[in-house]
Amino acid sequence: MKPNRLLPSEEAAAILELAADIADRELAPLADDHEERGAFPRETIRVLGRAGLLGLPYDEADGGGGQPYEVYLQVLEVLAQRWLTVAEAVSVHTLACYPLATFGSPEQRAEHLPALLGGELLGGYCLSEPAGGSDAAALTTRAVRDGDDYVVNGTKAWITHAGVADFYQVFCRTGGPGAAGVSCLFADASTPGIEAARPERKMGLNASPTAQIAFDDARVPAERLVGEEGAGFRIAMSALDSGRLGIAACAVGLAQAACDYATNYAKEREQFGTRIIDFQGVGFMLADMATQIAAARALTLEAARLKDAGRPYSTTAAQAKLFATDMAMKVTTDAVQVLGGYGYVRDHPVERYMREAKVLQIVEGTNQIQRMVIARTMGK
Ligand SMILES: Cc1cc2nc3c(=O)[nH]c(=O)nc-3n(C[C@H](O)[C@H](O)[C@H](O)COP(=O)(O)OP(=O)(O)OC[C@H]3O[C@@H](n4cnc5c(N)ncnc54)[C@H](O)[C@@H]3O)c2cc1C
Repeated sequence: MKPNRLLPSEEAAAILELAADIADRELAPLADDHEERGAFPRETIRVLGRAGLLGLPYDEADGGGGQPYEVYLQVLEVLAQRWLTVAEAVSVHTLACYPLATFGSPEQRAEHLPALLGGELLGGYCLSEPAGGSDAAALTTRAVRDGDDYVVNGTKAWITHAGVADFYQVFCRTGGPGAAGVSCLFADASTPGIEAARPERKMGLNASPTAQIAFDDARVPAERLVGEEGAGFRIAMSALDSGRLGIAACAVGLAQAACDYATNYAKEREQFGTRIIDFQGVGFMLADMATQIAAARALTLEAARLKDAGRPYSTTAAQAKLFATDMAMKVTTDAVQVLGGYGYVRDHPVERYMREAKVLQIVEGTNQIQRMVIARTMGK
């Protein structure tokens, strides 16, 4: 079922059409094969960059698209409908650009943002560590000032684009324990002493590399500090508020793909001489899937519109991430059920969608952490 979108401008409608056209031509035909081989589609990401789709929510003065967040999220949704790895790559890149675009000095923005937002360079966001992802304020990667550089030592874990990114936003400890001791550095991936490990062997999203990154006396120029020393945790959390909405939009797109596939199948497949969609048990399942998707889309866009209006949106973003990703897990699982045995084999994409949905409940704050954020607001 095609969503009936309310878009803020004709330009937004044209951007969405462009994204759908590129997604159909450049993403959909590659997805299965690349996921099977675990091959990252670097060139496809460049195509999106050249089309202006890699810096959509950032200022035009910095090289971005100057679009409201609600438009950017709907583009992500359209990309995720064809290939989650690419939509997630756009979301993670946008997250990695956030610290510089939001907290960078005018000089840093002028020097770095045009290349980042123009899509020639790809970013990674390095917050999690082997000993902890949820308790990010306990991170131990250390940066010590030495002359004009910071010398960074430690290990980051689970980093999307590890080994294929051109730059990393690295959250590291420059001060004492806790959130107040964390700073944010912008590092070139080619810096000597920064090394990506072998990619993790994941359940899904296999074309998207995820790996540990070791920092071994890596010297990052002090002018690459984003914000002041000690501001890193605030920057990381602020970035995640908007990043979570990207994950929610990816979940909506993935679920839409699963629902569309299952619906088409149910219209073709016959049992007992009847289309299976005409059995109430199947038709109602599809109706619930479509309704849950619509609800998740509405909540995600509500959070985006609050952000666009400059209103507080952190709790609504947590609700959107929680609801949309739990929804995607349920909808993709139900899509497998609609296909019966055929849902369980790789001849159809729904088993992949189901494996991919799982990760969305984990990244950028697990859904337990989202509930914690929401409950904390309620308890105030
Ligand atoms: C494919 C993939 C890509 C990723 N990409 C990135 C990336 O690009 N950059 C990055 O920095 N990180 C990335 N991550 C890391 C991700 O953000 C973490 O995995 C996530 O935050 C959870 O951290 P953890 O794995 O250490 O689990 P833990 O923090 O050890 O949590 C384990 C379990 O305990 C629960 N838990 C923890 N604390 C609480 C609490 N207070 N209350 C209730 N339950 C709690 C969790 O919800 C979870 O179920 C990625 C992860 C994956 C799998």
